[in-house]
Amino acid sequence: MGAIVCPIEESRIRNPEYHAPDRYQQCAQLFVKEAYRLYGFESSSAMEQLIQMGLATQKTPCCKPDLETPLNKQKCMVCRPDMYPLAEGLPYAHVDNSRILCSMTGTVVDDDENIPFLFPSGHVFGLKAINKLRRPENKIFDPIHKQMMDESEALRLYFL
Ligand SMILES: [Zn+2]
Repeated sequence: MGAIVCPIEESRIRNPEYHAPDRYQQCAQLFVKEAYRLYGFESSSAMEQLIQMGLATQKTPCCKPDLETPLNKQKCMVCRPDMYPLAEGLPYAHVDNSRILCSMTGTVVDDDENIPFLFPSGHVFGLKAINKLRRPENKIFDPIHKQMMDESEALRLYFL
């Protein structure tokens, strides 16, 4: 152990960060950060992490703080000026291929086994669910409108 001694004027020139007025606040912040790391504590709260997970699902490359639109008229939650600092370092939501789910069973509809059909209610149902909803005389029970409809009213959907 040793100490290097030099005149204070020379030390201020060589090491200005050691003589900065906020050096004790920086030291305290470093101590807290290191204590969190050492004991395995998270530096952010669980609530902040949950909000960030939600924001990450909505974040796009176009998102930036929107200071001009009033908060109650903003359409993107990530672009809100009060939320954007939480989303700033988060990755973008990246979805290559969207999937369509059956409104009744929640299973993925596809062109092979679970063929999608659009009902007049605007909901998409897979063929497996429609087979359960079939009634005599070419009728289908629409679980959304809770009424019977003709099979011809269900439109076949195609994937492009
Ligand atoms: Zn946005």
